[in-house]
Amino acid sequence: MATLKKPVKYVYSFGGGKADGNESMKNLLGGKGANLAEMAGHPQLRLPVPPGFTVTTELCTYYYANKKTYPKVLTQQINEALVKMEKITGKKFGDVKNPMLVSVRSGARRSMPGMMETVLNVGLNEKTIQGVIAQSGGNERFAYDAYRRLIMMYADVVMEKGMGIEPKGGKGIRKQCDEKLEAVKRKKGYAIDTDLTVDDLKALVADYKKTIKKVLGVDFPDDPMEQLWGGMSAVFASWNGKRAIEYRRIEKIPDEWGTAVNIQAMVFGNMGDDSCTGVAFTRNPGSGENKFYGEYLVNAQGEDVVAGIRTPAPVNDYSKNAQSEHFTSLEKLMPALYKELYAIQKRLEKHYKDMQDIEFTIEKGKLYMLQCRVGKRNGVAAVRMATEMYKEKLIDIKTAVMRVGPNQLVELLLPMLDPEKEKTQPVIAKGLPAGPGGAKGRVVFTSEDAVEWASKGEKVILVREETSPEDVDGMHKAQAILTTKGGMTSHAALVARGWGKCCIVGCGDLEIHADAKTFHAKDGVVIKEGEWISLNGTRGLVYEGSMGLVDIDIEKNQSYKDLMKLVDQVKQIGVRANCETPEDAMTAFKFGAEGIGLFRTEHMFYGEGSEEPLFQLRKMIVSKTEKERRAALNDLYKYVKKDVKNTLNVMNGHPVTIRLLDPPLHEFVPHDKEKLHHLSKELGISMSVLRRRVLALHENNPMLGHRGVRLGISYPEITEMQIRAIFEATAELMKQGKKALPEIMVPVTCTVNELIHQKKIVDQVYLEVLEKTGLKKIPYLYGTMIEIPRAALKAAQMAEVADFFSFGTNDLTQMSFGFSRDDIGGFLPNYLDQKILLDDPFQTIDQEGIGELIKFGTERGRITKPNLKVGICGEHGGDPESVKFCHRIGMNYVSCSPFRVPIARLAAAQAAIESPRKIAKTK
Ligand code: PEP
Ligand code: MG
Repeated sequence: MATLKKPVKYVYSFGGGKADGNESMKNLLGGKGANLAEMAGHPQLRLPVPPGFTVTTELCTYYYANKKTYPKVLTQQINEALVKMEKITGKKFGDVKNPMLVSVRSGARRSMPGMMETVLNVGLNEKTIQGVIAQSGGNERFAYDAYRRLIMMYADVVMEKGMGIEPKGGKGIRKQCDEKLEAVKRKKGYAIDTDLTVDDLKALVADYKKTIKKVLGVDFPDDPMEQLWGGMSAVFASWNGKRAIEYRRIEKIPDEWGTAVNIQAMVFGNMGDDSCTGVAFTRNPGSGENKFYGEYLVNAQGEDVVAGIRTPAPVNDYSKNAQSEHFTSLEKLMPALYKELYAIQKRLEKHYKDMQDIEFTIEKGKLYMLQCRVGKRNGVAAVRMATEMYKEKLIDIKTAVMRVGPNQLVELLLPMLDPEKEKTQPVIAKGLPAGPGGAKGRVVFTSEDAVEWASKGEKVILVREETSPEDVDGMHKAQAILTTKGGMTSHAALVARGWGKCCIVGCGDLEIHADAKTFHAKDGVVIKEGEWISLNGTRGLVYEGSMGLVDIDIEKNQSYKDLMKLVDQVKQIGVRANCETPEDAMTAFKFGAEGIGLFRTEHMFYGEGSEEPLFQLRKMIVSKTEKERRAALNDLYKYVKKDVKNTLNVMNGHPVTIRLLDPPLHEFVPHDKEKLHHLSKELGISMSVLRRRVLALHENNPMLGHRGVRLGISYPEITEMQIRAIFEATAELMKQGKKALPEIMVPVTCTVNELIHQKKIVDQVYLEVLEKTGLKKIPYLYGTMIEIPRAALKAAQMAEVADFFSFGTNDLTQMSFGFSRDDIGGFLPNYLDQKILLDDPFQTIDQEGIGELIKFGTERGRITKPNLKVGICGEHGGDPESVKFCHRIGMNYVSCSPFRVPIARLAAAQAAIESPRKIAKTK
């Protein structure tokens, strides 16, 4: 027997205590539709939602797949849904006596605020308007205002945008209608829209219709059904509008999702002084405080609240601010309705177990709920809400941990530009957001000026094409760093992040004119030395002038501390920090680092107090004989030991991975005459001989040159000095009864033979130090960075000698992609714009490429040594997605800049919830 196939259901009704759909159907009904169904139909809610129906996202897909046509069944489904609405409201769509008007709104799976279209008051025409006047108790002004709004909105959204008409001279129909309204106001001397009389509005309606015919060549449709279908098609068309496409690209929303359309009976907040409309949050979205917070406008439509034309009044005393404190609250004005609204918002939050953003309307003394959705919140509020809801037992520990986006924590850790001020200022340039937070300062163009100005108490921002290690002092003294070149792991970016300093790199909108001491930005803006600029390092935005900063003290934030306690109960992978000084180590410890995953010893040669060790290093570099070199190394030794010892001491028995010297030597060679002179005198050689030696160190590709372990192979005495410093520092601490656990790490290796070679030095020095100190044993590990693809491929052999691997994903990415980490800013934007790459691989691990190498290396290494400790110390160690990846592939720890430690801890906890590991916690 043949069975009849049931037609696809494209229309889901809600209202009158019932709904076809529910909250779990977001993919089909969109966020708004699913929540309307939930509010209207869930047995625990059944809230006063005006009835309506949702046309599914599947229909949007159908529409585009079928040359913008609809399936036959749709008409019947829509007509049936309209009848249901009519039964509930007691009104009739298109009826002259008692007409039902509807709104037509978009609603994608994820909210895309303001990106798609809405048409209100659909169903109004020259005839039904009489019915609307009667419904409103003879309020003609209200009815004609609604009609005027419909005509303008419909002409704009459906007839112009929906049809893809490009307005002539860029002046759309909406603008033209607006101008007509303004002209009437001007002529009659009205200050605000509400001064318009019924006759004015009637005349405007006629004028709008004439203009539409003239400009668009067709009449405004007076048939309610035509309006409804036209509105629906316009919403679907707006899914592929320019704004929506761009927004999806930024938010990574797939194009094929489509939008739903919600058609709902209109209720009016502008029917008189017993009507109002408002937006509210179940908790304060700015601070997270558990207090009902919102705004409303008497005798107004929803769009008036959002558009900000009239200053809204507070719903209660708690919501008052400087502009609204003298307004009457809803609580005072309509106490019974406020009480009803208050109870509903409580129920909504309890039901959804999260802060809700709600829209409501009161029409002639009756409350309606128009929308609810999970409310957006800033980082501070997110942390407070998550921990307080956990304490209130509204949510469990896992939900609490998942509630805060790792990057939201940044807002708690760093000062920010005042967000209100920022909204009002034009952006003069945009670059890569290398160091988050906000900063303001006066522009300087050299490191020396930064140091000098800062010493006089000036706040400065160092603006450079790019930075080098020689700039470190100035960078340190500056409030922030702005470079025109470089990528996310360029020198400036790396250093700034390490300090938690605001930094923007690769800012191609700027042109520096060093001689004139100026830079040129967008739109002809020229900034001179000494003038103020402000940076938003979180978004990579540059502003002219000095903007206020909002400061945050993390130690005082109890919610943050509470959240971190929860995080530590859940996470499984260890989190360490990359540190360069004992002070960094202290900061890292404060932020909860469980060890140091990368201690770059070369830091002692930059910045404050570096004169002497740098001089000794230079001596060592240009030495010609081993004897000379050893003499210089001898002098260097004490500096290295002191730094290592202080850091081990701060970390008090937690592991400290000390990397042997890595950078190419030429980076440390002096170039200015005076310093060369000093060196030549000290070494007892002529300037010309010294110059020749310096020249000999020049390399075409220093990143692929004489650096890392290659130095230790050419000059074993360099390794020997460092190893001695590490062991003696450890021994001295042990003798003082302290705990110390060094991990010696060899950088830039590509073959196990390099590791064997260096290990011999380690073994020999170890015995010598034991003998000298009389200790029986000094605890330590010997391992390597994996930052050359070959090292990952040969991981099984590397693990024969190494106790641990630490993936140096900065160099691994550079060497595997063949992209210079310092120059990627020059072409990366083209790659991202054209979707050739979806993300900057120096910011987040390229999981399918570099990630494969990391997985392969880890697995192969552990075949040789099942307990091989594996970590990561590239900048990716602080990127939430990369942390999650490292968790999933079974790494023991991630290591990142001190300021990113809390972010990595949270990401680690979320990874443990999303894909729990069987093994216990690791460090
Ligand atoms: C790396 O290459 O990932 C790394 C951590 O080392 P550096 O950034 O110092 O080259
Ligand atoms: Mg490296």
